[in-house]
Amino acid sequence: MSAGDKLFGRLLNRHPPAHQEIVEPPSVLSVGLQIQLDAQGRVLHLSGPLRHLLAQQAPAAQLAHLLDFLLPHCSLAIEGPPADWRGQLLDLDFYSLSGSPLHLRGWVQPMADTWLLQLLDIGDLLLERRQARLREQCQLLAAQIGEQLRLCSLMRLPDVLVDQLQSLAQRFHIPCIALALLDEQEGWQIHQHYAGFDTPSLWHNGQRLGTGLDSLDGSTPHHLNLAEHPRLQGTFGNTEGFAVPYHDAQGVVAWLLCGCYTAHQQAPDVSERDWLQFAAALAGPLLARLREHRHHLQLERLESLQALLGTGWWEMFNDSEVQLAPSLARALHLEQERLPLQDWLVQVHPADREQLHSRLQDLRLEGAPLLLCVRLHRDDGDTPPTWYRLQGQALGVGNQRRLVGFMLDISDIKNQEQLAAAAHARLDNLIASSPAVIYVQRYVEGALQPTFFSDSLQPLLGWTLADCTGAALVDRVHPEDRERYFERTRLLLREGSVRARYRLRDSRGNYHWLLDEARLLRDDLGLPVEAVGLWLDVTDATLAAEHVKQSEERYRMLVEDSPAMICRYRPDLTLSFGNRPLATYLECSPEGLPGVNLGSWMSAQQRESFLQRLSQLSPEFPVSTAEINLQLPGREHAWWVWSDRGVFDEQGRLLEVQAVGRDNTEVRRAQQQLTQSAKMATLGEMATGLAHEINQPLNVMRMAIINVLKRLGNGDLQIDYLTDKLNRIDAQVQRAARVVDHMRVFGRRSDIEQQPFNPAQAIDGTLSLLAEGMRGKGVELRVSECAFAVQVRGYVDQLEQVLINLMVNARDALLGKREADGQFKPWIAVYTERDEHAVRLWVEDNGGGIDPRLLERIFEPFFTTKPVGVGTGLGLSVSYGIVQNMGGTLSVRNSAEGARFCIELPIVHDAQITSDARPA
Ligand code: ADP
Repeated sequence: MSAGDKLFGRLLNRHPPAHQEIVEPPSVLSVGLQIQLDAQGRVLHLSGPLRHLLAQQAPAAQLAHLLDFLLPHCSLAIEGPPADWRGQLLDLDFYSLSGSPLHLRGWVQPMADTWLLQLLDIGDLLLERRQARLREQCQLLAAQIGEQLRLCSLMRLPDVLVDQLQSLAQRFHIPCIALALLDEQEGWQIHQHYAGFDTPSLWHNGQRLGTGLDSLDGSTPHHLNLAEHPRLQGTFGNTEGFAVPYHDAQGVVAWLLCGCYTAHQQAPDVSERDWLQFAAALAGPLLARLREHRHHLQLERLESLQALLGTGWWEMFNDSEVQLAPSLARALHLEQERLPLQDWLVQVHPADREQLHSRLQDLRLEGAPLLLCVRLHRDDGDTPPTWYRLQGQALGVGNQRRLVGFMLDISDIKNQEQLAAAAHARLDNLIASSPAVIYVQRYVEGALQPTFFSDSLQPLLGWTLADCTGAALVDRVHPEDRERYFERTRLLLREGSVRARYRLRDSRGNYHWLLDEARLLRDDLGLPVEAVGLWLDVTDATLAAEHVKQSEERYRMLVEDSPAMICRYRPDLTLSFGNRPLATYLECSPEGLPGVNLGSWMSAQQRESFLQRLSQLSPEFPVSTAEINLQLPGREHAWWVWSDRGVFDEQGRLLEVQAVGRDNTEVRRAQQQLTQSAKMATLGEMATGLAHEINQPLNVMRMAIINVLKRLGNGDLQIDYLTDKLNRIDAQVQRAARVVDHMRVFGRRSDIEQQPFNPAQAIDGTLSLLAEGMRGKGVELRVSECAFAVQVRGYVDQLEQVLINLMVNARDALLGKREADGQFKPWIAVYTERDEHAVRLWVEDNGGGIDPRLLERIFEPFFTTKPVGVGTGLGLSVSYGIVQNMGGTLSVRNSAEGARFCIELPIVHDAQITSDARPA
């Protein structure tokens, strides 16, 4: 073993030589540095190759201490004299020429009375150790960074990333540091950055960097001298930069960027590998976490999408099991997500189940893609079925093959589809069965050629499309209408739409009136493409309209030429039409009639009762006839027999009244005349009775006067006696005056309008005229006081006339009977009764009654059983008319002893009276 070998062996073993070692004489070794020292540690001699590296290479004139060669911190290692250093391994840093310290290791050993310090260069050894330590630290840091990023919650991930960037920055004095990732647009983007508080901030999160980084080789870190990388100037803000790539299977996916940083100067010991490791420690877990996050979001989206759409995936295993997406299992109300195939199929409606099963088999055995719409099996029959679209496919091959698919709830679409299909079918049906034909005519060089007819063509006209090509269609147009048809086509092409009416011949040779409505469709350039139109068979309507027109014309003539008054008026009595006779009566022209109110010729009371009558019209009883009374211009009174027919709407409201009228004034006048004559005749008849009526008071007065005169002659006239007689005379005068008065009233013509009155009044009036005369003839009057007061409408004098007629007839019958039988005691009874609606006046006698065979005829005019010149045969007939005119009836029956006549009149109630009395 050479001395050198021994020396290295010691060095490496790091054991100082043992004290008992033999001290060899100093010799010049070819390695290291040997320093001879005196007992105080002063340098006596330097030898060995390393001495050329020392800043101070030879002992000075004045012996320098070893400490003068060493960096200050070494003074601790060599305290005291060299003798104290024995047995120690000395690590000493010498000042060197190069400026950086020279690391040497060695030991002292005695050499005679001096000490020899043997030293070897351990600079490399130290460097290696430092580097190893640094690498260890780097690894540890990288591991920590990776771990932090892997373990933190997703929410804290950005903060943790900043922390890790910060720790890197602080550890290696990096002013700005950032991690750039590839974004979706394939450019680079700052994902997270950190900058010390006093350093320029180069970046911000989310900053887009473009694709400049792609120009760098992705396998090593880059010290960026920006002059060489002009594309990266923007990224590093014109300063020095350092970029470390991270790549995974897809290539470079991240860059760790250090700004304002020269790595080889500021961290010379950190190797490229270490930098790559840092980049990987940051980007690896981060990207994994981000992918995880994206995946998670994706899943969430998928879940919510499935839930929203009512859809979900399924996967089939073997032939017996399926797994369903949770949302799908929920939608199907299934407890489990993985279940036997059979349980899944049971969910499907029996009608679709077999088909689904067979299609699933096809998918499994042959890989035939599955697409099927199925209904779910539900027990409640009322709700529309739930429809699912079921799709499936085989993924992969061989053992790896999977059968997957999805189910989508398409109930809405399906149900709408079905509704639409039903509506479509109905429409088709409707078109086919309607009298309408839909057609399409294609535009070919200015002409229109039929290309389509709806199915209704055949039933309507008996043709097919083939029958109508070329000129065939025009041939079928009625010769008289052809010009119209050509005009229709010209108009359609010019205006874009048309509406025409013409006749077409059907297959049996009959002509149909068609209403043709067509529209021209144009392309984007405005050029005609085709005409779409509709034929409506309006034959019936056209003929009917023709018919109506003709009949209307006939009726118009009828109405115009009719001598009767014909008009239409609204419920408020405003005329909308009136013919010439009506206009003549109203003294204006027929054109002037519309708008005129019929009521303006009626008194308030007449109008009231006219409207009252109209209000009783109804759809069931639309007609009412009455004799109405009007005050016409320039004429006294007109009586019209007026017939109204109401026209009602669907709700039964009166819309209009159509009326026909006939002037009855002359008849009315004649009747009045007749009544008057009859009345006068009655008066004449009563002349005897009346003479008696007046004679009676005259007799009384005469007796009184004779008596007074007698007393005057005797000279014993007392004033009391005279007064008594004069009073009696006065009473009789009044009585006679009353009779005469009443006769005058009775003889007057009746009023034009009926008035309400109490029928008892008529009985009183009658008795005042007849009572005395009857008694004079020996006829007993049995009059019952009327126990009630009611009102009837009519003419009091006419009712009186009726009563007089009945009583005179009775008297005649009675007197006739007494002529035959002197013992006969004649009487006439007059009495009244009432119920809610009517009052009845009875006139009964004991004259033996009327021959039953004549009963039906006695009301006929001129019927009389009396000798010529005595009876007129008008009394009962006129009476009958009067009572009827008052709304009542006159009837007769034979009672046990004679005839019994009954006048029945409707009672007018107070409300009616007051409303009648209301001013117009
Ligand atoms: P006239 O009294 O002029 O004959 P009327 O019309 O009053 O005409 O009567 C017609 C007929 O009815 C009489 O002729 C008579 O025969 C019959 N008649 C009317 N009233 C009675 C009565 N109370 N009893 C019997 N016959 C009567």
